[in-house]
Amino acid sequence: MKVNCPTCEKAVEWGEMSPYRPFCSKKCQLIDLGEWANEEKAIPVKSPQDQAAANMDIEDIEAMLSEQEQDFFKPS
Ligand SMILES: [Zn+2]
Repeated sequence: MKVNCPTCEKAVEWGEMSPYRPFCSKKCQLIDLGEWANEEKAIPVKSPQDQAAANMDIEDIEAMLSEQEQDFFKPS
């Protein structure tokens, strides 16, 4: 028995080999839940900061990134 993935319409075998049924994959399951979409949308969209980074020296970019990582891991 096969069903179509609600997200991408791909045929999915309805059985133990398809743990994410009726979705073809965890990705499609997350898309349906809206979680994956929210995460992925944030990546390709270039912020003004990213545009500025394109004009910066690689050393400046690395310094900026290391600062961001430190902020990220800082306990709030
Ligand atoms: Zn799918």
